[in-house]
Amino acid sequence: MAWRVSHYVAASAVVAGGMYWAASAVWAARRLPVARAIVVTDAYEHFGDSLGRREILADVLARAGIAGRDYGNLLVAATALEPRRLRQGQRFEFRRVKHARVADRVMIRPSPERRIWLTRRGGDTGWVQTEEVIPWVATRSRIEGGIETSLYDALDQAVAETLLPANERRELAWAIADVYDWEVDFTRDIRPGDRFTVLFERLESPEGERRFGRILAARVDVAKTPSFAFYFEGDSARGAFYDERGRSLRRAFLRNPLEFRRISSRFGGRFHPVLKTWRNHQGIDYSASAGTPVRATADGVVTQAGREGGYGNLVELRHANGIRTRYGHLSRFGARLRVGARVKQQQTIGYVGSTGLSTGPHLHYEFLVNGRATNPQRKSVGEGTPVPARYKTRYEQVRAALLAELLPPAPPGSPSVSARDD
Ligand SMILES: [Zn+2]
Repeated sequence: MAWRVSHYVAASAVVAGGMYWAASAVWAARRLPVARAIVVTDAYEHFGDSLGRREILADVLARAGIAGRDYGNLLVAATALEPRRLRQGQRFEFRRVKHARVADRVMIRPSPERRIWLTRRGGDTGWVQTEEVIPWVATRSRIEGGIETSLYDALDQAVAETLLPANERRELAWAIADVYDWEVDFTRDIRPGDRFTVLFERLESPEGERRFGRILAARVDVAKTPSFAFYFEGDSARGAFYDERGRSLRRAFLRNPLEFRRISSRFGGRFHPVLKTWRNHQGIDYSASAGTPVRATADGVVTQAGREGGYGNLVELRHANGIRTRYGHLSRFGARLRVGARVKQQQTIGYVGSTGLSTGPHLHYEFLVNGRATNPQRKSVGEGTPVPARYKTRYEQVRAALLAELLPPAPPGSPSVSARDD
């Protein structure tokens, strides 16, 4: 119980000094505050609670006895807290004097990086807020593996629990799918024998929590074709991914009108969400829950948005170069979607449904070139914009450094790969 004592001491120090915290040894020694039973020490009891469905901050605090004027005073002090941004399930850790009705301290962690402590001062002098920044440390990890059934399964097997917990492995899978959104349809293109290699940042908190940070570089081999991705920041604060020749991975067309995370979150990546390919019926059918958002695969103009026979609710878009795309069986249309409207790539144009000739919720997607239904190939997505000329040299340096980390020492005689020998 040593940490509870230090808690108390720390809280006193906060009250006395109103100081701003960075994590200290005291906090580093704390256990992660997860759901736990009421713990009674000599003076205090500790208990947790969380924001329920359709609840607001006042509801949770009222259960801990903080209501009325007390609640008002707490809100005045809690400048770092944004009550409207709290989500269902948000945890609250309370402390109160044994047998007291009202809690005198609340801890809220609105994001993985921050903890907010609110402590009631003696008498009726209000509350004091203390903010603690949790110093996550980034380390680089490299993993590789074969993709037999799905990207998620592949990562699940390649990444040890000690490296990333299951939910973070899923984040990593989704992040890879996001990087290759224009290049690979991970629900349709993957065949046994395909491979992935990824270099990413992993974050670890002083308490030993682990989470996925960001992808730095990757290589996927789909249908024996390697696709590289290197993260590079030019002059924009948000960087982008470029291939080995310095072309952006962003293209004119997305490979898949449904976001990978939306379909894989339902099927856990273990179900192949493609029902039929274009060969059977001039389109691709993606199985997904009713209501899953459908994205425009490219910038375009709406040429149809309404009921159309067996298609049910259909959206048709016209794009550059004589290409049209169609999205059928929608349950409803996107906001302000009407014929003649311009849409942006990735904009939600409708929601998966089962209207028209359909036996269950799925999206029917067609890709038409000069009026003919065509199986969209990887080459159909267009060319990526190159790194601006003024960044070419810098990009080459970044790419070379990332490649050296991404790829293991090449076997003798293997071409094209610069080996790392450290
Ligand atoms: Zn279909």
